Amino acid sequence: MALSRYLNNHLGAKLLLSYLTVVLIAILVLALASQWILPTALNRHMQGMGTMMGGSSGPGMMQGLFSDFRSSFNEALLFSGVVGLITAVVSSIILSRRVLAPLNALMQASRSLSEGRYEERVLVQSGDELGQLASRFNLMAERLQQVESMRRMLIADVSHELRTPLTAIGGSMEGLIDGVLPATEETYEQIRGETERLSRLVDDLQELSRVEARAYELKIRPLEIPDLVRTVINRVAPQLESGHIALELSLPGSLPRVLADEDRAIQVLTNLVANAAQYSAEGGRVLISAAASRGAVRVLVQDEGVGIPPEHLPHIFDRFYRVDKSRSRRAGGGSGIGLTIAKYLVEAMQGRIWAESGGESQGSTFGFTLPSEA
Ligand code: ADP
Repeated sequence: MALSRYLNNHLGAKLLLSYLTVVLIAILVLALASQWILPTALNRHMQGMGTMMGGSSGPGMMQGLFSDFRSSFNEALLFSGVVGLITAVVSSIILSRRVLAPLNALMQASRSLSEGRYEERVLVQSGDELGQLASRFNLMAERLQQVESMRRMLIADVSHELRTPLTAIGGSMEGLIDGVLPATEETYEQIRGETERLSRLVDDLQELSRVEARAYELKIRPLEIPDLVRTVINRVAPQLESGHIALELSLPGSLPRVLADEDRAIQVLTNLVANAAQYSAEGGRVLISAAASRGAVRVLVQDEGVGIPPEHLPHIFDRFYRVDKSRSRRAGGGSGIGLTIAKYLVEAMQGRIWAESGGESQGSTFGFTLPSEA
């Protein structure tokens, strides 16, 4: 059982076994031939010779005996050679089926892949090195397919995101030229708003590509959570004030320091608090809390705002994902990239980020962890 499992998982063992089989069979056949075929043939020749010479012997007879022996042996060798050859051919056919077929399949699949057909997969038939190679190949093909589909989706998403403000700007300009739209401050303000949206989108995309490619340096050092929170509050203060949002804090005095990049940690927390304020009704309440939890510090941002329906929760960190596109736009929201960037950053700092919500109008809680110093 163990031997058959070992053979199944090791191509080298299989090859060795097949060649050993050929050699063993050849030896066996040779032994059998020299045991039975050779004496019979020699006897036959000697009998023929004895009749020919009338029972007398001499050097001529010895020579004849030797040449008879040689031809008998050659007969036996020919026989064993043929059997050995047939065995070699049969085993090589079996081998080539087992070895060459998957290799050919791999070759064909890699050709398809190089021609851009990423859906190509090979059949994994065994657990040996070839089988492992095939499953690794499939894994690679899957990753390439994912990257390719992400690339396509990105282009589609970016063009879609660009089209909306561009159409709005184009429409307004046309209206102005035709005199349909009044050349008022409001019209120009609208156009300016759309160009601002465009440049925000371009900035976000640039930042996203930077974090996706990890083309930034993390300066990890011990940080105090209350310091981070203070900086974030200063940043979002205007937004909180304009929405009359009350901010509450719950930070225990004995919080361990976290190991993180200051700017990036601030960026993540700012994004969560700004979202909490943005998706809260006027006069709403936002709570920032932190607690130590198993080698990390957990930071929570809770709001009592619009909430997130359960079917949207799994996608909330996806690129360009917005629960309600029109709502997000009207509310002056971004392009749905902020949380994607936050997730990349938190994970790059060895943390975790998640979202919870009781559903529509039930408020949301966004949390993330950062490794603690001790
Ligand atoms: P955006 O710039 O559009 O806010 P984000 O990536 O920050 O992009 O957020 C993605 C989407 O997640 C938002 O469009 C919104 O639908 C939803 N969302 C984020 N934070 C909250 C929140 N605190 N409450 C409700 N929905 C939220």
